[in-house]
Amino acid sequence: MHKKHNFGAGPCILPPSVMEQAARAVINWRGMGLSILEVSHRSPEFEDVVLKTQLLVRELLAVPDHYSILFLQGGASTQFAMVAMNFLDTGKKAAYLDTGYFAQKAIKEARLFGEVDVFASSGDKDYTYIPVDFNYDKQVAYLHCTSNNTIEGTEMFDFPKGGAPLICDMSSDIFSREINITDFDLIYAGAQKNMGPAGMTLVIAKNEFINQAKKEIPSMMDYQIFRDNMSMYNTPPVFSIYVAMLNLLWLKDQGGVSGIEQKNIAKAKLLYAEIDRNPLFHGTADVEHRSRMNVTFLAVNKEVEAGFLKFAADQGIVGIKGYRTVGGFRASLYNALPLSSVEILVDAMATFEKEYS
Ligand code: PMP
Repeated sequence: MHKKHNFGAGPCILPPSVMEQAARAVINWRGMGLSILEVSHRSPEFEDVVLKTQLLVRELLAVPDHYSILFLQGGASTQFAMVAMNFLDTGKKAAYLDTGYFAQKAIKEARLFGEVDVFASSGDKDYTYIPVDFNYDKQVAYLHCTSNNTIEGTEMFDFPKGGAPLICDMSSDIFSREINITDFDLIYAGAQKNMGPAGMTLVIAKNEFINQAKKEIPSMMDYQIFRDNMSMYNTPPVFSIYVAMLNLLWLKDQGGVSGIEQKNIAKAKLLYAEIDRNPLFHGTADVEHRSRMNVTFLAVNKEVEAGFLKFAADQGIVGIKGYRTVGGFRASLYNALPLSSVEILVDAMATFEKEYS
């Protein structure tokens, strides 16, 4: 196959074998003489896909039986409002940890539905770290955090325990590392990083917590309705769910989440080592909160920045331009990105250093 070394932040790289299977299913799925795009979501064949995908999520993330797995739409951005609509009680506040751009979007949406207490923020240092010493009122309706800050390149490795119900946006690091599901009451993630193509949003939630949700909300925003209808209250994002199933089967073959975590650690270590060694570049995030998924770094000057972007592009390296608020570079190292692509990026940085000096 082609291919560029795709360090894009999302939608992002998926394994070539998954793309091939998905492409075949678009033409003729299961030898049915029909495309996956034209079968009824109520057909036994597609119901089987939904069930299998749920089982794979359950198995790969060790989700206990008292949690439900839902496939919704509207991206993680809809979850910003949906969690508040369901759980932000007018009598109670919600507590939000502000760790960057997407956390702020979640805060903005929640404020439409009730009182929000931003109990800690890393905004004082351009979101280059994760606040660790904080207090919050344990009587809040829930506490919201973002496990991986896709733009700023920071990641949470410890989560608050034993307090209010914990809700986490795991859009950009779900399936990349082992997590303890029972630490959380609700997790949400847009699919388009480590799960599959854009279109589906994964929600994993404790049943007891879903049962406490408000009742007077629109059906499409109601977790209970989606749980009670096997995520098929309306037409689900059929193709996105199908490709997620293929991708999760691929992940299982990689040794599951613990297997891929080791590979992700190796990839991140290699790239950060070069950033720390190479005098032309430096990392933006505090070392102990560096993300393994989105590696953010700056060049010493604008000339090096522009020069290296071009040099990298000439070698088939794409998607490394940093987000406009951070600048510089962001190399995303999602599950399907092979170590060999990281080696090529690191070699390019070293070669560019020799040619530049
Ligand atoms: N949260 C995080 C951490 C993200 O990285 C993103 C998207 N990059 C979002 C939320 C928004 O997701 P979506 O585009 O699926 O609405």
